[in-house]
Amino acid sequence: MRAHLCRHCQKAPASRPRRLCWSCYYRPGVRERYPSTSKFARQGLGLVQRCRPLPAGPTAALPGSPEKITVLEQRALLGLELWHPDDAILDRRAFPRLRLRARRLRERVVSSLIAG
Ligand SMILES: [Zn+2]
Repeated sequence: MRAHLCRHCQKAPASRPRRLCWSCYYRPGVRERYPSTSKFARQGLGLVQRCRPLPAGPTAALPGSPEKITVLEQRALLGLELWHPDDAILDRRAFPRLRLRARRLRERVVSSLIAG
C-alpha cells in the first residue's frame, strides 16, 4: 500500500497526524485548516471544553450517593451539564457522628501505636 501524500502540499508523505507532512504540520496556520482524522479526536476524550445547557435545577442528592449517580445519568442522557453550581456538596459539619467516629478511630490508632 502506498503511503498517503500530505493533504496540504500533495508532495511529501503524510508522516504527521491529520495526514499532513512534517513541514506542513509544523508550519503555522496549516494544521488548523485540516480537521483531525483520528476517531479519538472526533469523539473527544472529555478534555475539550463543551458548552452544555445547565440542568433546570440543582439536586439535593449528596455526592457519591446512589441518588446523585441517578441524577448524573439523567443529566448525561439529556445532554446537560453534569454538575449544577448549586448541587448539594458534602458538608462535614453536617455529619457530627461521622466526625466523632473518625476521632475515636484516630485515638484508637494513636493509643495502639503508643502501646505497641
Ligand atoms: Zn505538506
